[in-house]
Amino acid sequence: MNESPHASTGTAREVDILVVGAGPAGLFAAYYAGFRGLRVAVMDALSEPGGQVSAMYPEKSILDIAGFPAVKGRELIDRLLAQAAPYDPVYLLGEQAQTLDHAADGRVVVGTSTGRTVTAGAVVVTGGIGTFTPRPLAEGVDFLDRGLSYFVPDLSAHAGRDVVIVGGGDSAFDWAVHLEPIAASVTLVHRRDRFRAHGATVARVRDSSVRVLVNADVAAVRGNGWISEVDIHHRVDKTITTVPAQSVIAALGFTADLGPMTDWGMRIESRHIVVDSRMRTTVPRVYAAGDITDYPGKVRLIAVGFGEAATAVNNAAAALDPDAEIFPGHSTEQEN
Ligand SMILES: Cc1cc2nc3c(=O)[nH]c(=O)nc-3n(C[C@H](O)[C@H](O)[C@H](O)COP(=O)(O)OP(=O)(O)OC[C@H]3O[C@@H](n4cnc5c(N)ncnc54)[C@H](O)[C@@H]3O)c2cc1C
Repeated sequence: MNESPHASTGTAREVDILVVGAGPAGLFAAYYAGFRGLRVAVMDALSEPGGQVSAMYPEKSILDIAGFPAVKGRELIDRLLAQAAPYDPVYLLGEQAQTLDHAADGRVVVGTSTGRTVTAGAVVVTGGIGTFTPRPLAEGVDFLDRGLSYFVPDLSAHAGRDVVIVGGGDSAFDWAVHLEPIAASVTLVHRRDRFRAHGATVARVRDSSVRVLVNADVAAVRGNGWISEVDIHHRVDKTITTVPAQSVIAALGFTADLGPMTDWGMRIESRHIVVDSRMRTTVPRVYAAGDITDYPGKVRLIAVGFGEAATAVNNAAAALDPDAEIFPGHSTEQEN
């Protein structure tokens, strides 16, 4: 078990609301549960909160969050954590929700990858696209966490290093832009000569000191304990260039899998959980919010996930306590 630095003390075995998924929708659900006076735990298979935002674009500016003309992914997640913090949610990170059953009293019992059992009055599933796993860089797998990484949660970890970034999408180019000022060198390697990344970001990288190698792939990664150099294979003329590297960042995309959630009895269509207008799934006391939900007209945006999280928690609160209203009142009414 790996309770995060964000965790409050103790083990969350019994809570009012268990939120499965610590992406933006899950973190806002945690705030809302706290605001409603409910004890809440937030579980995520990843070791950091923030879901797709932290894992894939922490340094990117998000332009469509209400009230923020532009906010970096990392800052948005930090603010969501700060917003929930006064209510002391327990974060159970690096822990996948695997089984879901009901106790005799109707509460929901979730079993996890660490052998823990969490019993909750209700569950809010904010599992996004499921548990996502980066596509591995086959030539470098022996160096995972010894120079090879798949995400960049902390730019400063690469400061002063020779960095090789592999990939041609938004993540690869965003990381090239942000690492170029602080790394000793940045080489971007892509197997094609066209990129999926946003044109403006590609142009920015092209105008920088980043060395862009197209029609190329990583042939070998070497090092004694830690990565020290990389062989790059040029697919057209079949030559090899060896570059020094202490960091190799593979941005080759990811596979996503709803995994164990498909066995929980919820109605799932095209890898999404079908919900009603109260964000109820077809399983008693199990609600859902964010990217994972589906209903006619669904739009998969962070802004929409926030609204669904509030709807799910407020309806769960009313279901748990017959005296509770669905409408919680306004947060301003709680100000001193
Ligand atoms: C490159 C990129 C750029 C984007 N830009 C924007 C943008 O500008 N604006 C915008 O609104 N949206 C944007 N999005 C989409 C946005 O990131 C998603 O809509 C948002 O992250 C969905 O939030 P969520 O909380 O529903 O799910 P997610 O962020 O996917 O989080 C779900 C979490 O659930 C966890 N999880 C899944 N299953 C389990 C399980 N069984 N047990 C434990 N944990 C589990 C996962 O590990 C994950 O951390 C972008 C997405 C990408 C990839």
